[in-house]
Amino acid sequence: LRPGHGFVWHRSKSTGLPDVRERTLIAVKPDGVQRRLVGQIIQRFEQRGFKLVGLKMLQASQDVLSEHYCGLRTKPFYNSLLRYMTSGPVVVMVWEGHNVVQTSRTMVGHTNPAEAMAGTVRGDFSMHVSRNVVHASDSVEGAQKEIQLWFQAKDLVDWDCWVQTSTSE
Ligand code: ADP
Repeated sequence: LRPGHGFVWHRSKSTGLPDVRERTLIAVKPDGVQRRLVGQIIQRFEQRGFKLVGLKMLQASQDVLSEHYCGLRTKPFYNSLLRYMTSGPVVVMVWEGHNVVQTSRTMVGHTNPAEAMAGTVRGDFSMHVSRNVVHASDSVEGAQKEIQLWFQAKDLVDWDCWVQTSTSE
């Protein structure tokens, strides 16, 4: 085992954790980007041990957002939510790992930052529900739909192939 290459792969095997490839979509919303929080948010997910498998920065379109938030169309805050989400670029990411959907929701915290625990992203960086810094998929099925909506399969990395290739050099 060489340091760097393949370390995560070998460690997860030795701890006996199942080789789960669950994925979730995390997005830093326009307020998080504007406040320079992208690095700190990425750091939390890396520190926890999750693998970053996709990342891009873009100005979200109305089309993608109306699909992404289709379940909220009837909510009174829907129009202001879309205005907020198009007010600047977002950083959209796909993270992979054991139980990543549920763990990410815990790490991100309550939708309303006023109720979010300290130590969560929203609990540490925000105070109002209309500017809550980050998005995290709320179920495995929801994550699959969101990942397909925001990313093409070719833009996601297969860590197992990459790690196996890089360790067999
Ligand atoms: P979550 O993002 O935690 O999954 P929801 O799916 O309920 O929460 O809501 C989606 C997003 O809509 C929230 O993250 C927040 O940006 C916005 N939102 C939710 N409730 C309100 C509200 N009462 N007022 C303004 N914006 C809201």
